[in-house]
Amino acid sequence: MSDLAHPDAYRVPPGGPADLAGRDPADRSWFPGTKKEGRRLTKALNRRLEELQELLWAEHRHRLLVVLQAMDTGGKDGTIRHVFDGTNPQGVKVAAFKRPTPDELAHDYLWRVHPHVPGDGEIAIFNRSHYEDVLVVRVHGLVPEDRWRRRYGHIVEFERLLTDEGTTIVKLFLHISKEEQRERLQARLDEPDKRWKFSQADLAERERWDDYQAAYEEALSRTSTDDAPWYVVPADRKWYRNLVVSKILVDCLEALDMRYPDPGDDLAGIVVT
Ligand code: ATP
Ligand code: MG
Repeated sequence: MSDLAHPDAYRVPPGGPADLAGRDPADRSWFPGTKKEGRRLTKALNRRLEELQELLWAEHRHRLLVVLQAMDTGGKDGTIRHVFDGTNPQGVKVAAFKRPTPDELAHDYLWRVHPHVPGDGEIAIFNRSHYEDVLVVRVHGLVPEDRWRRRYGHIVEFERLLTDEGTTIVKLFLHISKEEQRERLQARLDEPDKRWKFSQADLAERERWDDYQAAYEEALSRTSTDDAPWYVVPADRKWYRNLVVSKILVDCLEALDMRYPDPGDDLAGIVVT
């Protein structure tokens, strides 16, 4: 099972379409095994990710940016927890992008984002991202349409700047169904230890489900490129989501063909006393 093919079918082709409506959030067609086998494989991939992250850090030559977007309850936090379990916190940074502060709003929308991109040897995970500026901003009409429409171009160029300068980018949309969101929101209400995650605002956003899907459809279609591709990850089943994300990230790091740095001097024969 470890020679499982890359989940290419989930990649949005450059220029789109993302075809969210045609993609099943409960799909599991890429992995032939059971849930138990899937979990075991995810564990093995986690260990590999740990090794690759150590190598990335040791080599200090490449940078990896992971952009995570999802509808509310889509599983961004759970994905980060599971997939990066065991990696070295020194080289992995998570940046969460919430509602902008007045200071952030007084600048262009990429101003708050750029300082969080990864440096040499680092993995940066964006929990929400600059994509909010063509998603929530569009759905709520926070800026006029002609202004947010121009952002697709900025975003593609911004990401091109990063990839040209040596950053690898992978963008993941955790795709859940409206029914799955209903169940997860209800669970947040019903289970005392999940209530802290519930927000009334999530219900108001849920009413705009279709608007968000349309906004995601266009954003993913317009910004998936060869160098900064979007993946639509089926996310109704958490184990499957974790497996697919782990595989995408491991493949991405494997492709960098990294090596531990040569210490330069001949260390053979040195005995530490
Ligand atoms: P959780 O899983 O804990 O709910 P979250 O990412 O949903 O995590 P919240 O604090 O609930 O975090 O929500 C952050 C909110 O900030 C989201 O509703 C998001 O759409 C909003 N937001 C993020 N970026 C922007 C932006 N640029 N403009 C306006 N709103 C934004
Ligand atoms: Mg939220």
